Amino acid sequence: MGAMPAKHALPSWWRTQLHQLDDYVSSKSVPTESDIVIIGSGISGASVAYHILQQHKGHNPPRVTILEARQACSGATGRNGGHLKPDPYSFIGELAAEYGPEAAEEVAEFERSHVDTISNLVKSEMIDCDLVVTKAIDVQLNPRECKKAKASFDHLPGIGIKSAKRVNFTDQKEAEVRSRVKGALGCFSYEAGHVWPYKLVLHILGRCVEQGGKLYTHTPAQYISPEKDASDRWTINTPRGTIKTKHVVFACNAYTSAILPMYSNKIVPVRGVCCRIVPTFPVKRLTETYTLRWSWSEFDYLIPREDGSVIVGGAWSKYYRDTGTWYNNAKDNEMIEPAKEYFDGYMQRNFHGWEESGAYVDQIWTGIMGYSADSLPHIGQVPGKQGQFIIAGFTGHGMPQAWLSGKGIAAMVSEGIPFAESGIPRIFETTQGRLQKSRNDILGTKGEVAKSSARL
Ligand SMILES: Cc1cc2nc3c(=O)[nH]c(=O)nc-3n(C[C@H](O)[C@H](O)[C@H](O)COP(=O)(O)OP(=O)(O)OC[C@H]3O[C@@H](n4cnc5c(N)ncnc54)[C@H](O)[C@@H]3O)c2cc1C
Repeated sequence: MGAMPAKHALPSWWRTQLHQLDDYVSSKSVPTESDIVIIGSGISGASVAYHILQQHKGHNPPRVTILEARQACSGATGRNGGHLKPDPYSFIGELAAEYGPEAAEEVAEFERSHVDTISNLVKSEMIDCDLVVTKAIDVQLNPRECKKAKASFDHLPGIGIKSAKRVNFTDQKEAEVRSRVKGALGCFSYEAGHVWPYKLVLHILGRCVEQGGKLYTHTPAQYISPEKDASDRWTINTPRGTIKTKHVVFACNAYTSAILPMYSNKIVPVRGVCCRIVPTFPVKRLTETYTLRWSWSEFDYLIPREDGSVIVGGAWSKYYRDTGTWYNNAKDNEMIEPAKEYFDGYMQRNFHGWEESGAYVDQIWTGIMGYSADSLPHIGQVPGKQGQFIIAGFTGHGMPQAWLSGKGIAAMVSEGIPFAESGIPRIFETTQGRLQKSRNDILGTKGEVAKSSARL
């Protein structure tokens, strides 16, 4: 059985300007009945609720109830790197090798469309969430890895991966100047964005409440009946009462298996660390986002903010050997001690022009990702449980996948359309076959950490 969200999570910088709905409850007790119950108020749950209510736009909307164990958007979405980074060539290459180019290209296109979709949403809803669309730069700092990455990249157009055409490669001659990263041996650049995820999601939750949705923070779903009752409804127990519903959406990410045990070992809580670095003295601002990669186990990601600060996450090399510090670990109320000092002097060490910046770590926090054992999210109808849906397991990469997955789930729930017509990539579908596999990409067979677990 998996863990429930920990109490008293470390404060993340994204959650320093709290929205009025942060601790909101629509009423003292939950309704005894609801048409749809969504468990989780991160980007996945918010997207499902928003799209369901949008389909009805106030005309006889279904009764939608969102249950959240802690404060609104206090899980991974409120604690992440804010990087909206569609992958056009890296993991896509691995997917092409395993599932074929067509399936891989479908994922690349799905991720790419998140940048436009979220940009349009921010405009049309006038959301104050600091969205910036820019370029991502993946900087290679290890000669062997750089050569390998370039060779796989060069292979992609030949097997029909069109998304690779959107990527520019800068070789060693120019890489250091292009990226401003010390020792850069090559870099790949392509379109990406960054955003204040908490503000985005809270705005959306606010819209849902305005449209009649009910939101209950500090209200964990503690138990779901294994069978439906005589009226075809699932029963959900919460500390604020019991709800009966025909449709349940599990948007509870890393914590899925605590209430849906069939996903034990399939979606595993994986602990990560992120921080905010602030310069003391004026410095030429970075305008693009970064991944700095020294080896498969040594890599960090970084987004610059318009206020001059940078959000940096990673430090995995400092703790991955001690599996218990991160694998199946949902303690976002504790620091990962070996990673604590890693970001001190980080910008001075790695970026030209930051040596005299006096940049210091202003805030550091942990967060819990839902890693999927086969590296793909689980989306769709829960096998064998009619009326139950899942949207989880984004493996540290939910920002360019969750929003439109939520739209697809909304259409499946409220219009009854099949997964194949939901717009979600076919290989994301949760199936009995996937649940039966013993594969674990997160941990290798001999207790070694698998190479493919290094996503962000
Ligand atoms: C440190 C860190 C850095 C990251 N950086 C990035 C990044 O830069 N870019 C990127 O694409 N992705 C990143 N990710 C991953 C990304 O944040 C996630 O993929 C995404 O936010 C998942 O959204 P979600 O809504 O599915 O899950 P969550 O945001 O985790 O939401 C799930 C919610 O469900 C609630 N919940 C759980 N169980 C229950 C229950 N039983 N009852 C009621 N509520 C429950 C939780 O409290 C939580 O609020 C990062 C994650 C972490 C932790």
